[in-house]
Amino acid sequence: MIHQRLATTTDAGIPAASDEFSLTVGPGGPTVLHDHYVVQKIQHFNRERVPERVVHAKGSGAYGFFEVTEDVTGWTKAAFLSEVGKRTPVFVRFSTVAGELGSPDTNRDPRGFAIKMYTEDGNFDLVCNNTPVFFVRDASKFQDFIHSQKRMPDTGLRDNNMQWDFWTLSPESAHQVTILMSDRGTPRTYRHMNGYSSHTYSWMNAAGERFWVKYHFKTVQGVQNLTDAEAKALAGEDPDVHRRDLRDAIASGHAPEWRLEMQIMPFAEAADYRFNPFDLTKVWPHEDYPPITIGRMILDRNPANYFAEVEQAAFDPSNLVPGTGLSPDKMLMGRIFSYHDTHLHRIGTNYQQLPVNAPKAPVRSYNKDGPMTYRHAGSQPVYAPNSYGGPVADPELASELGWGVEAAEIGRYAYDKHAADDDFAQPRALYRDVMTDTDREHLITNIVSHVNAGVHPDVQARVIEYWANVHHDLGAHVSKQLNGG
Ligand code: NDP
Repeated sequence: MIHQRLATTTDAGIPAASDEFSLTVGPGGPTVLHDHYVVQKIQHFNRERVPERVVHAKGSGAYGFFEVTEDVTGWTKAAFLSEVGKRTPVFVRFSTVAGELGSPDTNRDPRGFAIKMYTEDGNFDLVCNNTPVFFVRDASKFQDFIHSQKRMPDTGLRDNNMQWDFWTLSPESAHQVTILMSDRGTPRTYRHMNGYSSHTYSWMNAAGERFWVKYHFKTVQGVQNLTDAEAKALAGEDPDVHRRDLRDAIASGHAPEWRLEMQIMPFAEAADYRFNPFDLTKVWPHEDYPPITIGRMILDRNPANYFAEVEQAAFDPSNLVPGTGLSPDKMLMGRIFSYHDTHLHRIGTNYQQLPVNAPKAPVRSYNKDGPMTYRHAGSQPVYAPNSYGGPVADPELASELGWGVEAAEIGRYAYDKHAADDDFAQPRALYRDVMTDTDREHLITNIVSHVNAGVHPDVQARVIEYWANVHHDLGAHVSKQLNGG
């Protein structure tokens, strides 16, 4: 893009003397230290990068809006959901999980689908994935899981053996690994995949009634995936293919759209549902809780600057506005701490003041100062309570959404077992009842190709057992093909 030529300046706005030549003693002499312009240019360059995200490093983003299409006031009093036709601006960031900043978009991996809605009650963030479940159900296993997907400490190489070792020792991963190894592990574009809250959250209506809910953003473009071979070829041909696709689609007026469907469970039903409805490795069958379409989300504007907007975007599942809330999902509890903490490390104390992260609602907080403070309230008192007109918290407005807990000993527990809790039943249903013959065939060849790339014989034996637990036919096919059949 050609811009009108204006004079270069320093970052202090002073005209710069040259874009080409350092200040030297004669044409061949040494460069002088007081060439502050070039020295500061070097210093700024050295600080151009912030630490990349430990997970979801490679991402792409776009702006758009969310629009309510059904009356949901019977379930929630959230202001941004208060009337049909109401629109809320959004920013969405899609990503892979394990790869670094420059890694190929088409690697087999779950995809992040993080949504920030700039509501009148502050930011509402849903940090979704393109899969409805996750590999583990307790936050204490998350770091180990991610280490197993990243690189070996000695060689710096990724290692499929490490991945299968972790998965086969963690049977709760079977549902998510089934989806990951299916063609849904290699979406065709970011536009052709769904986004799921995966976690159970909660809603509360104006009468104080509570509901457990799951959010499903369903692609209007239709789910489309790459085969393993297509994904591997594209990784070499165009590692940025998904970023390019999203940008080009929006720039050419083909704004992608998603339907928001909700699953809604009356609050009291969780206690004796046949499996634990807060377990992140399980979906709620549609038959039990049919999805209800309540809105649509459209992405129709590209960011103007990749680093300022997409790289510095920071999402936080604890950003929940009145009328919406958490659930006792133990992974969600871990994420509530983790996201804000990682942004403090990665971007800095005041990351929420950056334009892409800043709420459009007024901020009246007693937090103050820190590097790069931009927003402030002038002479507002810096402590509460005060007698000089500072803001006063209003519990009525906040209306935190809680749930009861039975008196119990503090300890390290698995979830209470419900009658039908089983790590393999849902992946079995997916394999047996939902997948087509082609889906099953690709699942098997994708597993075998992944395991054949470096998984040790003892772990391979566990891989066969793992898939046999999902379905005996699946175990038999994997075994046969791994053994050259
Ligand atoms: P349903 O038959 O009502 O739903 C099956 C759902 O599976 C579909 O609606 C679709 O959800 C999704 N799906 C279709 N093809 C594939 C595929 N190749 N790979 C992954 N998912 C696919 O049955 P249930 O609700 O009883 O669920 C049965 C199984 O389906 C579950 O155990 C789970 O593995 C899987 N599933 C269920 C979801 C749920 O929320 N109930 C969501 C996604 C998968 P979508 O429209 O969301 O793509």
